[in-house]
Amino acid sequence: MSDSNDNDLYQEVILDHYKNPRNYCELADATSSAQGHNPLCGDQIKVYLKIKDGIIEQISFAGSGCAISKASGSMMTEQLKGRTIAEAVELFENVIKMLTGRAPEEVDQAELGKLAALSGVCAFPMRVKCATLAWHTLRAAMTNKEDEVSTE
Ligand code: ZN
Repeated sequence: MSDSNDNDLYQEVILDHYKNPRNYCELADATSSAQGHNPLCGDQIKVYLKIKDGIIEQISFAGSGCAISKASGSMMTEQLKGRTIAEAVELFENVIKMLTGRAPEEVDQAELGKLAALSGVCAFPMRVKCATLAWHTLRAAMTNKEDEVSTE
């Protein structure tokens, strides 16, 4: 693994969100939440949503994990606050496509904004699950799925 690859993975914006995660707290008045776990890396995350009239009024996350999982969760909450559930589902699909690199031509770059900084994980299969964990947990919280999400 060369240094330039590492730099691709840990971009400034990712380190910033890791060191100063946004919306990193439990949400006392959450209307739904879900727990996610990535056994491959040991990342644990809980996503909290306060949904009113189909709009995500509040979103937060808590837990422990590596830089990628935390930064991904932080950027996710920042991007989704105030958005509709439909928009969140659309962004979820867009982000998963970007992170897994399966359909790069279908990725809406404009929609991704800052999240594009995470695209470097494509080259690191071990880290893809760190980056997708928050999003799968979000998806579970939106559908009120009780079971813990696991990337395995
Ligand atoms: Zn991780």
